[in-house]
Amino acid sequence: MSLDTISLSGKKMEVSNKKMSFWESLYLVAIVKGLFITIRHLFTRKVTIKYPEQKRELSPVYRGQHMLKRDDQGRENCTACGLCAVACPAEAITMKAAERKPGEEHLYREEKYAEIYEINMLRCIFCGLCEEACPKDAIYLTETKVMVASASKREDFIYGKDRLVMPLEMALRNSKNKAS
Ligand code: SF4
Ligand code: SF4
Repeated sequence: MSLDTISLSGKKMEVSNKKMSFWESLYLVAIVKGLFITIRHLFTRKVTIKYPEQKRELSPVYRGQHMLKRDDQGRENCTACGLCAVACPAEAITMKAAERKPGEEHLYREEKYAEIYEINMLRCIFCGLCEEACPKDAIYLTETKVMVASASKREDFIYGKDRLVMPLEMALRNSKNKAS
């Protein structure tokens, strides 16, 4: 006797409540079949890799952890205009603007800069819209190739300027490479 049921996917399935034979009730055939499937997979090409010992090659357009750029003189490009935060569909970016004071021209390129700039990496979907929206070439994530590290506390995923701003040595090295 068979019963027709409808699965969640909408496909029709036929369910049988026929009594099992003695050999079927021992499940031997089912176990051997299962083992055969397992053994067959031992000899097929693996789709997984042994991370972190092995690492996959990243796509040239891979979007990694964001970086707030400095210019060739090591000054921060960001002018805290907020366009990246407006463009962000995940509302992951927050910032606080401040006025540059006399004597800080070597630190910030524009008269206004981001005193606080934070990205919530738990919200971020790495869409890259912040990079596209930025008029100052101040934020990018397509070339960083840095993966956001795992953490066990939510607050560890709020990245501030200490983790986002490009290291000064890197900016100076880039400008030296451009000049040579
Ligand atoms: S990559 Fe997308 S989601 Fe992440 S901060 Fe930028 S705009 Fe927001
Ligand atoms: S990163 Fe670019 S878009 Fe975002 S606040 Fe700074 S200058 Fe404006």
